[in-house]
Amino acid sequence: MTEAHTTGGTATIDETDILAVAREQVLERGVGLTQEQTLAVLQLSDDRLEEALQLAHDVRMRWCGPEVEVEGIISLKTGGCPEDCHFCSQSGLFESPVRSAWIDIPSLVEAAKQTAKTGATEFCIVAAVRGPDKRLMSQVAAGIEAIRNEVDIQIACSLGMLTQEQVDELKAMGVHRYNHNLETAKSHFPNVVTTHSYEERWDTLKMVREAGMEVCCGGILGMGESLEQRAEFAANLAELEPDEVPLNFLNPRPGTPFGDLEVLEPSEALKAVAAFRLALPRTILRFAGGREITLGDLGAKQGILGGINAVIVGNYLTTLGRPAEADLDLLVDLQMPIKALNETL
Ligand code: SF4
Repeated sequence: MTEAHTTGGTATIDETDILAVAREQVLERGVGLTQEQTLAVLQLSDDRLEEALQLAHDVRMRWCGPEVEVEGIISLKTGGCPEDCHFCSQSGLFESPVRSAWIDIPSLVEAAKQTAKTGATEFCIVAAVRGPDKRLMSQVAAGIEAIRNEVDIQIACSLGMLTQEQVDELKAMGVHRYNHNLETAKSHFPNVVTTHSYEERWDTLKMVREAGMEVCCGGILGMGESLEQRAEFAANLAELEPDEVPLNFLNPRPGTPFGDLEVLEPSEALKAVAAFRLALPRTILRFAGGREITLGDLGAKQGILGGINAVIVGNYLTTLGRPAEADLDLLVDLQMPIKALNETL
């Protein structure tokens, strides 16, 4: 790859410039960037950021359309997890303030109702566990049945690593999408989690896909990974071909091993948004946690005009996000329609 050269203050781009390559390959042909190409986007200088975001936006509009998927999320069981994911305040192994708690079925149904009222099509039930036990599976089954009786919304789950039997049970309950994050590049994973392996996560994702549920798989940027590893992570995800990728930025939580890491620079975070969109032209790319602390109030707009096409309304899992209305008003301002339920069935 060669760099853009400047002539009299005007940037001109030769045919090997990565954004020119991406325009032809990704925008015109819908072929995502390779790992090496993704790295070239991540390495662009800050003065190319606007151009990269504009191209990512064009790619998203061309290959996904203008609709934005709105999703709600609820934590059925919070805190007290036996795993040691170094970013996570829900691990019971760290000195973090999140204590173990369950919510009851009426509260779950109420949250689903409030979520549906915002126009959201997807409601994700999350539990902080290594994987579900019998008690959790029966709570989830009861919760899904109660929601189905009262609310018209698709249900997703995020319950950690699954056995084949549990995959089949969730499929039979009508779970539409399953979230399980790879979290980071394969080569960086052992620096982030030591109580289970990347391969164990991959195995769950494969079973979910084979059972016919949609796969939602993303991770967190800013956990000490190099740019090379960030590009590797995009390539790992591209290999998996997930239906949805939640992109989080580390929000360093006090008491966790990553509590002292620096928040990503906004330009780094936005370059990553553009690069991931160019690596994954057709996926639903969702802003998840850490957006506010990394990008501030303007982040939503820059992201949604830079390749993002899904947002979460209301609470994130352990920290408050922005109020739902702020994001939904923004979509109206930007004239981006909320994806309707019948389009996703
Ligand atoms: S990320 Fe999930 S598995 Fe890891 S500690 Fe947090 S709740 Fe547990």
